[in-house]
Amino acid sequence: MIDQIIAFNSRFVASRAYEPFVTDKFPEKKLAVLTCMDTRLTELLPKALGLKNGDAKIIKNAGGLVISEKDSAIRSLLVAIYELGVEEVMVVHHSTCGACHMHYEEFKPHMLERGISEETLSEWESSKDVIGWLEGFHDTEASVRRTVAAVVNHPLMPKDVVVRGFIIDSVTGALTEIK
Ligand code: ZN
Repeated sequence: MIDQIIAFNSRFVASRAYEPFVTDKFPEKKLAVLTCMDTRLTELLPKALGLKNGDAKIIKNAGGLVISEKDSAIRSLLVAIYELGVEEVMVVHHSTCGACHMHYEEFKPHMLERGISEETLSEWESSKDVIGWLEGFHDTEASVRRTVAAVVNHPLMPKDVVVRGFIIDSVTGALTEIK
């Protein structure tokens, strides 16, 4: 698949298909969106929010979550806010998210099967909280509230940044605000 992508890329560049996308690194709408990596949202989310290239920083991970205060999502938001002029943040989780019902106990047999040793797993269980780290959320609304709170209450987050939480329908793109 990657070879096909590389071949496509040569044609894309050669035909100057990039021209409609040329912009700069500063988000025109001064907006960041923290959302899920779900493939259903790849094009749907920007289209449903009316975002085009250059409008917003879109930060993605499994679930659109903030797990810890040094989470990569927080780091990206801090860069977006302090370096790139973002003033508003949307936390957007979505219906039927794959990260919703994840359990470490389901990962574990797959990891063993794929050659990760019992010894490595028990080390990660005892000293690295792999169980909590790979645990999904079980209530999407509660997860949005928790993520918004993690962003708003982060010690390095400026207080004037607007942070609002939403659930997007993975099929229709309809947004529901979670207050
Ligand atoms: Zn998801």
